[in-house]
Amino acid sequence: MTLKAISAQRLFDGVKYHDNSALLWEGTSIKAVVPITQLPTDIEHQHFEDAIIAPGFIDIQVNGGGDVMFNNDLSPSAVDTICRAHRSHGTAYLLPTLISTTPSDIQKALSAIDKAIEERIVGVLGIHLEGPWLNQEKKGAHNSELFYSPTPEQLANFNWLTKGKTLVTAAVENISTDSLKWLKHKGIVVACGHSNAKADELTDEKMQLVDGFTHLYNAMSAFEGREPGAVGTAMLSDHTWCSIITDGIHVHPKSFLLAHKVKPEGKLLIVTDAMASLGSVTNQFELDGETIRVVDNKLVNSRGSLAGAHIGMDESVANVIKWGICEQEALKMASTYPSIAMKCEDLGFLKPNYRAAATVLNTQYQSQAVLVDGNLY
Ligand SMILES: [Zn+2]
Repeated sequence: MTLKAISAQRLFDGVKYHDNSALLWEGTSIKAVVPITQLPTDIEHQHFEDAIIAPGFIDIQVNGGGDVMFNNDLSPSAVDTICRAHRSHGTAYLLPTLISTTPSDIQKALSAIDKAIEERIVGVLGIHLEGPWLNQEKKGAHNSELFYSPTPEQLANFNWLTKGKTLVTAAVENISTDSLKWLKHKGIVVACGHSNAKADELTDEKMQLVDGFTHLYNAMSAFEGREPGAVGTAMLSDHTWCSIITDGIHVHPKSFLLAHKVKPEGKLLIVTDAMASLGSVTNQFELDGETIRVVDNKLVNSRGSLAGAHIGMDESVANVIKWGICEQEALKMASTYPSIAMKCEDLGFLKPNYRAAATVLNTQYQSQAVLVDGNLY
């Protein structure tokens, strides 16, 4: 195997900055971060002018991209198209996200992701099942006729992933403690979302089994003085992470900043919740037989409900920096924190022996290149 390198004026390794430095890797593993002046002269090396190299972005909620909705095409080639579309926005790895569907399609999706990982489709980290174990009062763009509360036996009937990470979003008030325990014992990361819970329904016993909250504020019971709801519980529980959509449409910048102030360091992370329209030529797609269109950068269904986001990871990072978050925290929210949330031990930092994954951004935080498993795109 041969050593390769990329370099830039600035490199952020997930902990600290290195000036005029290079990321060196061999095969799929990082070897070192060294000053450019110490690079061996005989290796393949690309320098990026006026750029920053950061740990590769990880998006744990992606419904589609490049005119493909995962729900509508449960195949490895669809996953490849989605990963490519997001790679041009800086995303190294993502969880294709299945919106509530039938048990047989859930199984097809799990099998497609297993196959995609086996076929080494670039950038697929696992799967996110968003439902159908949700609350109909907070259905968002999901078809609530598909919702149910699964028993452990029903969960055990699926052939779950044999490789890669699994995230499940469920309305915790509508799923039994036994089912939550079943998911946890299976090594599945569990997030509360599309939830209409009163705070008292999110008991300590259940919350110990919950790792995070999906798209904080959106499709969950709001915080009020007399009733803290799912939002208040998310804010108060220090051990849980919260994902948040930072397109400036789903969540007001001030609500984002409040969450950032309240959640412990490392527990607020960016997701795009992007749909087929990212990197699309048509600007519309079908979801459950309904046409979703891009109108003023918003994705709306025929009733005018928001139906996912139309944004890439690089733009999401640029937004939070614009709203007042410092650059290194914004970069961690898109790479280090989601890596930790999904319990990936070899991603999220540019350190020796970590997977060779990085995102190169220009001074406006637009993606210039993405390194995934040692290949530069
Ligand atoms: Zn959702």
